[in-house]
Amino acid sequence: MILRTRGRPINIDNHIVGKVCRDFDNIDSDSILIWENDFAIDFNKIRFSCLLTTNENVVVNEQTRVVYKIPSLNHLVDGDIVSVGNDGNINTLYRANSFHNALLATERCNSNCLMCSQPPKDRNDIEILHDIHTRLIPLIPKDCIELGVTGGEPTLLGEKFFTLMNQLKVELPQTEIHVLSNGRSFAWNRLARRLGEIDNKRLMIGIPLYSDYYQVHDYIVQANHAFYQTILGIHNLSRYNQRIEIRVVLHKQSIPRLLKLANYIYKNLPFVEHVTFMGLEYIGYTPKNIEKLWIDPYDYKDELAEAVEYLAGKGMNVSIYNSTLCVLPERVWQYARKSISDWKNDYLPECSKCVKLDSCGGLFTWNLNKHSAHIRPFLKN
Ligand code: SF4
Repeated sequence: MILRTRGRPINIDNHIVGKVCRDFDNIDSDSILIWENDFAIDFNKIRFSCLLTTNENVVVNEQTRVVYKIPSLNHLVDGDIVSVGNDGNINTLYRANSFHNALLATERCNSNCLMCSQPPKDRNDIEILHDIHTRLIPLIPKDCIELGVTGGEPTLLGEKFFTLMNQLKVELPQTEIHVLSNGRSFAWNRLARRLGEIDNKRLMIGIPLYSDYYQVHDYIVQANHAFYQTILGIHNLSRYNQRIEIRVVLHKQSIPRLLKLANYIYKNLPFVEHVTFMGLEYIGYTPKNIEKLWIDPYDYKDELAEAVEYLAGKGMNVSIYNSTLCVLPERVWQYARKSISDWKNDYLPECSKCVKLDSCGGLFTWNLNKHSAHIRPFLKN
C-alpha cells in the first residue's frame, strides 16, 4: 500500500495539511485539490489550499501552491488527509476508508529493542510532527472509531505529549485512542498524574513487558533499569485510573519465561485491562538480530497456549496478535485477533485454498519471507 509519494513543488514554503478532494462542488479554501485532467483551471475562480497533479507541466500564478509530475495519485480517496512538504513529499496522514490510522509522534526513543520494527532515529522531529498533528487532528472525522499514537516513544514529546493528549480528547471525544509507550517516563509520578488529569476514558496506553526478570527485559529493550521504570510506570498510571494494556512480543528471548511472566502479570499487575501476546515482525532490527530472536511460532505454541489459558483462567482479558490459526492450538483460537493493520496485512499463496482464511489474521507483508514452516491450509473435507 502506498502511503507516500512525491512530485515537483511550486510555491510551497511550509508543510500544508489538508483533506484531499477531487470534486469541485465539495472543495473549500483548506482543501487539497487533486487535478488529473489536462485542461486548464481558472485559479481566480476556485479556492483551494494546494493542487496535486500527475500532469507533467502546469502554468500557475505566484500564489498557487502546486505539486506536479506526481507518478500517481490513485492511492488517495476524497477525505484522506495528507501533508505536503516543500520538498514535494506527500505523506498520507489519515485514510478515510481505514480503521487503522495512527499518528507517528516521534521517531526518537529512549529504548532500543532488539526487535524494534521502527528503529529509533536520533533527529529532532518533534516540533515538525507536533505541528503537523496539531493541524491534522481537527480535520479527522468526529466519528473516527479508533486512532493510534505510535513512535518512537511518544512521551519524549514532553509537554507536547500532554498537549496532544488534550487535543485528542477535545477534538475526538468519541474516538478510542491507543497510545504505544514503553511506559518508562511514567515512573515519574507527576507525568502519570498529568495524564490522569486529562481523564480521557477512551485512552488506552499499550506498554510492552517482555519478562518477569529485570535482566531479560532490560536486555531485550537494550536499556538499563527499564524493567523497574516500566513496572513503576504501570503502577503510577494505574494509581491515576489510566487504562493499560500489556504487550508481550514472542521470540527466543521472551519465550523461555513466558508462563512465569504470565504469573507475574497476574500477581503484580492484575488491574491491567488487556494482555496481548504478539508475533514477531520481520522488519526493522529483527532481520539483523534474527539469530537472537527467531523461534518458529509452531515451536512455542504450547508455551503460548499455556500462558494465555493461565491468564484467561484468572479472569484476565487476553488476546493473541499477529498469529496464524494454523500454527495455534485450536483451544486458543478464541483469543486470536485479526490484529494486523490492513496496509501491512498479507497471506501466502496457499492461504487462498484455506477455509479459515476469513477468520485468520494472516501475516505482516514483511513476514512473507520469514514465517512458520508449519503454515498449512485447512481444506474442505
Ligand atoms: S493457511 Fe493461511 S489462512 Fe489458513 S490458517 Fe494458515 S495462515 Fe491462516
